[in-house]
Amino acid sequence: MDFTFTDEQNMLREMVRKFVDNELKPIAEKIDEEEKIPRDLIDKLAELGFLGISFPVEYGGAGMGEMGYCIMQEEIGRGCASTATFIGAHQSIGASGINMFGTEEQKKKYLVPLAEGKKIGAYALTEPNAGSDAYTSETVAEEKDDHFLLNGQKIFITNGSFADYFTVFAKTTGEGNDGKLSTFIVEKEFPGFSVGKIEKKMGIRGSETAELIFEDVKVPKENLLGRKGRGVIVGMKVLNTGRLGLGAAALGAAKEALKLSAAYSKDRVQFGKKISQFQGIQWMLADMAMEVYNMESILYRTAWMYEEGKNVTREASIVKLYCSEALDRIVDQAMQIYGGYGYIKEFPIERMYRDSRINRIFEGTSEIQRMIIARDILHSRNL
Ligand SMILES: Cc1cc2nc3c(=O)[nH]c(=O)nc-3n(C[C@H](O)[C@H](O)[C@H](O)COP(=O)(O)OP(=O)(O)OC[C@H]3O[C@@H](n4cnc5c(N)ncnc54)[C@H](O)[C@@H]3O)c2cc1C
Repeated sequence: MDFTFTDEQNMLREMVRKFVDNELKPIAEKIDEEEKIPRDLIDKLAELGFLGISFPVEYGGAGMGEMGYCIMQEEIGRGCASTATFIGAHQSIGASGINMFGTEEQKKKYLVPLAEGKKIGAYALTEPNAGSDAYTSETVAEEKDDHFLLNGQKIFITNGSFADYFTVFAKTTGEGNDGKLSTFIVEKEFPGFSVGKIEKKMGIRGSETAELIFEDVKVPKENLLGRKGRGVIVGMKVLNTGRLGLGAAALGAAKEALKLSAAYSKDRVQFGKKISQFQGIQWMLADMAMEVYNMESILYRTAWMYEEGKNVTREASIVKLYCSEALDRIVDQAMQIYGGYGYIKEFPIERMYRDSRINRIFEGTSEIQRMIIARDILHSRNL
């Protein structure tokens, strides 16, 4: 077994880390406060190749694969959870379906500008009555001669208010169709598409969350992504990479919370001693470090399996479930170590605590991850 990163992967980490320390961390609080990822930050991410890091070079990406994507998201997650969420929605769930299932024409037309960061992507699955039970979509795509007519509503869509291209799920109806879920690439410029309510949130406030409305949107047949009626497969495969990226961003935030807590405990004096000298504090730091180590181990093992072409549905759910729950425990302990100061906005722990909570909800709640894992245990011969 070889657990070392390649020189190229180490160089990528160094480059992202420098960017995060010098350019992202200093504006993370402003992003939260203003509830917006600044356009010049998006341009910078595009210029550095971060918006297509995993995609093949021939389609405008950096060719760094899933491992590169996780390394990058870990570092971004260390500095700003809103930015990591923006990148994840754009790249891993917004664009990777096109990379996995797109035709050559779709890749040239849509994947290249997405990978280059010239266009922004989003993933539109959730609806008011289809959350965890996502595939019971009420959005329909009625098949006509040379197009589908899309009608329905999506909610809670990250990047929804400003994305250019959407991966949209809808039930295919009309003559010869059985109402199964299919996937479509929808451009924001298609007539009948509009953006509705933009949500106010507790955390990841810089990442925009919007409602999308489809009223007789004419989607050309060549924009069907993957085979008709196979939307569940597209959705599931895309969410595998989404869940790894989410685990990576959680790992970065967890490492940061541990680092900040250790430093703070060596600085803060109570009862005439640094609080790091109290065993109660040391045990919290030790527990945090143990969870960080577990997160890192399962994340990169699964990313490696993914790159080897193995089926990682169960493992990606384990990564998502474990990393999101561990991060919540870690930021909670970090706030405890900081005491009252942790609760005050002047210190980053307050924002990290709020940002962390969404990880147990989006891209499938913790309960849904447990359901996927249990289903795989009960139906798989490989325990
Ligand atoms: C900030 C934010 C960003 C998001 N971004 C996107 C995006 O970009 N694209 C997108 O498509 N969606 C997005 N979502 C939607 C997100 O994926 C859903 O909110 C999530 O999947 C849960 O669906 P729900 O909110 O409808 O909860 P519900 O499905 O109503 O669940 C409510 C509760 O019931 C539990 N539950 C449901 N079914 C079961 C079961 N079978 N067994 C046990 N418990 C169960 C759930 O775990 C949860 O605790 C986003 C949501 C938020 C808040």
